[in-house]
This record gives sequence, C-alpha cells and structure tokens, in this order.
Amino acid sequence: MELLKERIRRDGTVKGNDVLKVDSFLNHQMDVALFEEIGREFLRRFDGCGVNKILTIEASGIGIACVTAQFFRCPVIFAKKSQTKNIAGAVYTTKVESFTHGRVYDVIVSKKFLGAEDNVLIIDDFLANGAALEGLIDLVEQSGARLAGAGVVIEKAFQPGGERLRARGIRVEALARVRSMSEETGVEFAD
Ligand code: 5GP
Repeated sequence: MELLKERIRRDGTVKGNDVLKVDSFLNHQMDVALFEEIGREFLRRFDGCGVNKILTIEASGIGIACVTAQFFRCPVIFAKKSQTKNIAGAVYTTKVESFTHGRVYDVIVSKKFLGAEDNVLIIDDFLANGAALEGLIDLVEQSGARLAGAGVVIEKAFQPGGERLRARGIRVEALARVRSMSEETGVEFAD
C-alpha cells in the first residue's frame, strides 16, 4: 500500500535494528484518515471471505481494528491482557510474549463473544516474531471458529513471524513489508 509506505518513510523512525517507531500516526497519535484507507485495503483483500468478526489485541490494534470493522460491518473483539487467573471456564485464554516489553501476558476473550459459528479476521498493527498473532490464532482455534486470515499493517519481514504463520497455511496480508531497516539508512521495503 503505497500511501502507507510513503508515510512510514516520512514519519517512521528506526530504533536500534529492530524497532520501528510509528507513534506519530499509527499507535500513539492516530491518523484516522489513514486508518480509513487501511480499512478499505483490508476489505479489498478479504472481501467475499464471509468475515463476521474482527479480533485484535489490546492496546495498539484496537483503533485500526475498529476503523476496519466499519468496512466489514461487523463487531470487534479485543483480547484483553489479564491479571486475573481464576476466571477459567468463562474465557478462552492463552499466553503472549510481548515484543516491545519482553514479558509474557495472559490474554483472554470471553466465550460469549467467539464461537464455532464465527468467521474471524485477525487485525494487528505489527507482525514481528509472530507471538501476538499466534496467541490470537490459539484463541480462535479454542473457540472452534473459522479463521479467514490475518491482516497486519506493518510486517517486519526480516523477523520470523510471517514465514512461520504462512508455513502453517494461514493467510497473512501485510500492507507494508519491511525487508530491512537501520538507524543510518532508514526503512527498505520488500515489495
Ligand atoms: P510479535 O508478537 O509479532 O513479535 O510482535 C507484534 C507486537 O509487538 C505488535 O502487537 C506490536 O504492538 C509490537 N511490535 C512489534 N514490533 C514492533 C515495532 O517495530 N514497533 C512497534 N511500535 N511495535 C512493535
């Protein structure tokens, strides 16, 4: 998605070798007009797949998922990072290791909102090592729902998540794929 790549080139900043900061338009301050184009593009890619629910993870996926859901005309569920241990039974639960914080969270989704009748599109801001998406896929599998695929805004293609998920047969659509990046040279896209 050219508009997005231009924006990353203009306003994204690279920290170290593997963190891309896009907090002026994607995951702190949010450019909702850009989100609208992102949502339109996700619909173009997953149109006709029968998606009836969008699943994301708090916090930075929520805004993108909500704008995208307006195009799909369906509800959004966000997996919650949970401190509570003894709610088993009413929720699906899995563990996710946070790329940015380096710690493991329990994340939950209420069984009320996801079940075998659902056809789910997973949406998130970044795909890096794949832990966030793998956790969300685990929740979908526990629920018996069908997985239409996963849409991410930015895939860091030099990290292993995308390849691992596609090798499992999961449809992963990334709107911008970063091939390499460094503080000196900035961001280079894969396609
Ligand atoms: P993964 O679980 O695929 O390793 O990482 C995905 C999650 O980590 C995303 O939900 C995103 O919030 C965060 N993340 C991963 N890489 C980056 C990055 O380069 N920049 C930012 N801002 N967040 C990232």
